[in-house]
Amino acid sequence: MKLNEKSAHELHEMLIAKKISSVELTEEVFKEIDEKENKVGAYVTLTKEEALKSAKIVDEKISRGEEIKILSGIPCAIKDNICTKGIKTTCASKILENFIPPYDATVMTKLSAINPVVVGKSNMDEFAMGGSTENSGFHVTHNPHDLERVPGGSSGGSAAAVAGGEAIFALGSDTGGSIRQPASFCGVVGMKPTYGRVSRYGLVAYASSLDQIGPITKDVTDCAHVLNIISGHDEMDSTSSPAEVPDFTKSLIADVKNLKIGLPKEYFVEGMDSEVETAVRNAAKIFEKLGATLKEISLPHTDVSISTYYLIAPAEAATNLERYDGVSYGARVDGIDVVDMMKNTRSEKFGEEVKRRIMIGNYALSAGYYDAYYLKALKVRTLIQKDFTDAFKDVDVILAPTAPTAAYKIGEMISDPLKMYLQDICTVPLNLAGLPGISVPCGKTKNNLPIGFQLIGKALDESTLIQAAFTYEKEFLK
Ligand code: GLN
Repeated sequence: MKLNEKSAHELHEMLIAKKISSVELTEEVFKEIDEKENKVGAYVTLTKEEALKSAKIVDEKISRGEEIKILSGIPCAIKDNICTKGIKTTCASKILENFIPPYDATVMTKLSAINPVVVGKSNMDEFAMGGSTENSGFHVTHNPHDLERVPGGSSGGSAAAVAGGEAIFALGSDTGGSIRQPASFCGVVGMKPTYGRVSRYGLVAYASSLDQIGPITKDVTDCAHVLNIISGHDEMDSTSSPAEVPDFTKSLIADVKNLKIGLPKEYFVEGMDSEVETAVRNAAKIFEKLGATLKEISLPHTDVSISTYYLIAPAEAATNLERYDGVSYGARVDGIDVVDMMKNTRSEKFGEEVKRRIMIGNYALSAGYYDAYYLKALKVRTLIQKDFTDAFKDVDVILAPTAPTAAYKIGEMISDPLKMYLQDICTVPLNLAGLPGISVPCGKTKNNLPIGFQLIGKALDESTLIQAAFTYEKEFLK
């Protein structure tokens, strides 16, 4: 197995045993990037010089006999909507093409404690709006398992980088599935933590009540390690949770006896790929064999979660994106007066999907429509939350597909936004409810495309998700 195919925890062991150096490992990853990147397109910006500098610092620590943290010296990719001080953060948008943040997002400050080797900023759908990374303002990312297919989105660059050995782990963001769905399409592990578990300070806002940063990793163990580093209260984010952060690696225990798993009947929807359904049902059987109990449950408002999400998310997006006016920062396209300048800037620099969302959002928020659309959506959101609260009276976790299909062909959905939105049916409900979810690989289609299942947990109960996912992974990889 090549070095860049290994997990972070395996590489850590090799680093401390001095079998490899971080510089060697980093160079190996960049070699892969040189070979693949023109076909995969996982990155917007590469930061080789800085990466090698960090790697060297870690190597020096090791040679001095200092203890290094588990993710120290391990190459990682950071989604390009997470602010990195002194490094371009574009959100894959032409409007932020040359934006260099003067500060780090809190997750980056937290990561700095481990001397991260940041390989680069990964590609995404512009402002995280999309499910295929085809909406990037720069280039499309390809799925390393099949270059004609999408890697999923919007964190498609992060997932493709980890799956293709162009990074060992990555950070993504998930507003309606953007960590879990690309993880599922690329055959890696992706977790959306509970809303508030990870600070959003320095994450460029898409829909503030839904956005959450989380790990994309090669396995569940790495996921627990990354989560340990990035979680925790932050006074810079008033929505961050004050709850104690457990040590998630303590949940890396292979045991699901007494675990009650709910299978929501509404998630096994019509139109769902039969290979996906079979793989997820087989995963359920494995859990049962390992001692868990299965129970069919109902989340009755699942069918309205897409329409609810696609009102709330664009409404928040339209508001958040008002700041790109050609004045304070970001690109400017001149005009005959200030209004003309703003019009030109926004018309030229935002992509089609972003404009569509701004229009939907402003429509839903405008006088006369606010009550009928936005307010109604907020009420339905409460009903969706209640569905989960009721379900969790009977079960500990919920098992469902991550997405209704495996990775589809590039170009297959892009001209039909509604069809693409409907793909989010399994992922958006838990963002609306603020709950954590993890996507774990559970097989392949006959075309050799990865399939993932999703485990949904109670608020702040990522630990149970990690334990269940770890137990499954151990059995699956046997
Ligand atoms: N596909 C969803 C959307 O387009 C989710 C995006 C995300 O989670 N950032 O909004």
